[in-house]
Amino acid sequence: MTQSWVKGANRPDCDFSLGNLPYGVFEANGNTPRCGIAIGDMILDLSELVFAGKLVAENCGFDRPALNTFMAAGPNTWEAVRNRVTELLAENGSTDLRDDAALCHRALVPQSSAQMHLPIEVKGYTDFYAGRQHAFNSGSILRGPENALPPNWSHMPIGYNGRASTVVVSGTPVRRPLGQTLPPGGDSPVIGPSRRLDIEVEFGAIVGISTELGQTLTLAEAWEHLFGFVLLNDWSARDIQRWEGQPLGPFQSKAFATSISPWVVTRAALEACRRSAPARDKALLPYLHETAPYFFDITLEAHLKPADADRASRIVQCNTTQLTYSAPQLLAHHALCGCRMQTGDLLGSGTISGPERHNFGCLMEQSWGGRDEIALEHGGSRKFLEDGDSVTLTGWGMANGNRIGFGRCEGQILPAHAEVGKGA
Ligand code: MN
Repeated sequence: MTQSWVKGANRPDCDFSLGNLPYGVFEANGNTPRCGIAIGDMILDLSELVFAGKLVAENCGFDRPALNTFMAAGPNTWEAVRNRVTELLAENGSTDLRDDAALCHRALVPQSSAQMHLPIEVKGYTDFYAGRQHAFNSGSILRGPENALPPNWSHMPIGYNGRASTVVVSGTPVRRPLGQTLPPGGDSPVIGPSRRLDIEVEFGAIVGISTELGQTLTLAEAWEHLFGFVLLNDWSARDIQRWEGQPLGPFQSKAFATSISPWVVTRAALEACRRSAPARDKALLPYLHETAPYFFDITLEAHLKPADADRASRIVQCNTTQLTYSAPQLLAHHALCGCRMQTGDLLGSGTISGPERHNFGCLMEQSWGGRDEIALEHGGSRKFLEDGDSVTLTGWGMANGNRIGFGRCEGQILPAHAEVGKGA
C-alpha cells in the first residue's frame, strides 16, 4: 500500500487515502470556486498546481466551478492527471510539490476551512429502480408479494426522468414539500405538507462523455463513458407519490430535492472494488449482457439525528452488490432509444436494500408502509422523517488496505411553508 505525505491520508478510517483521489469543487481563502482533489484532511487545489507549472492539464478547466470540462476531456486525460497527482502526493514520489513550501501553502487547503459546491453541472437526472429487494419490498407493500415485481423488471432497468434543477450538494437543507395527497379513507385530495417524508439510499453514476443523438452504446463503451460515482439521497414524499403516481411515475414527490456527496470517486479508484453480476433468474438481451465485472462492493450507511438528539443513530446499512443492474447497464439502456447522453448526466441506481430490515434503504420499507415504528439506536423512533431530522449517508470500499470513501451526503429537514406562495 502506498502512503502519502499529506496529513491524515494514511489513517485507516480516512475516506481520502492516496488510492482514492476523488474530485470536487470547493471554495476557500476568498477564491472563486474551483476543482480540487481530496487527500487526507486536505484539498489539493488543481488550478494552483496548473498555474505553478507542476501539472500539465490543458483544457481541463480546473479553475471553473464544475468538473464538466475535465470530464469531457475523456479517459486518457483522467488517467494522466491521476498518475501525476499520485506521483506528487506519494510518500516516495516526486518532490515537486512536497519540497515547495510556498506552493504547498497555496495548493493544500484544509477541508475544514472550505465550502463544498455541487461538483458537476448536472445536465440531466434519471433515477432507476435497479435494486431487486427494494422493488420487491415496495411492490409487496402496494400490491402484495405475488404481484410485487412488474413483468418488465427482470429484463431491463426501469426508471424515470427526474429534475436536474433540484440536485443539491450535501449540507443543503431540504424543505418539506407541499403537495396533493389523498387522506386515508378519503375520496377527495387535500393540499398540505407531506406527512410521509422519506430517504432513499442510492448510488449515483456520472456520465463523463456525451453521446450523439441516435448513438447507442455497448456495455463496454458505456463503462468507458462513465466518469465516477457519488452518494445520492433521493428524498421522497410517499403520500404525494402514492396519489400522483397513477399511472405515471414520480413527479412532485421526488422533484423537491436530491442530495449528492461533494466528492466524485472515479472508476480508477474503485478498480479493486469491482465485482461480477449477481445471479439472474432470466437471461438478459444481448445489449445488457455483461462480459466484465461492472458491479462494486461498496458499503453504504445512513444515520439519522433528530434535532434534539446529541448523537446520530444508524438506520441503514446496505451494499452496492445488492443492485441487480450495474451503472453501465443503466447507461446503455438509457442510450438504446437514441437518447442523447451528456457530460454531467446523473444516473441514480434506485434505493439499495439488502435482505434484513436494517438493510432496507428507505423508511417506507423499514416501517413497512408506515405500519411499524422504527426504533432508533439512541432513543426515540420514526416511521417517516420529522422536521429538524438530519440524515447523513456515508459509503466506502476497500482497495488493497486503502479505504476508498465517499465522504458525507447530508441534509436536514426544514418545516414546510405554511401556504402556497409563501417563501422561497
Ligand atoms: Mn429513487
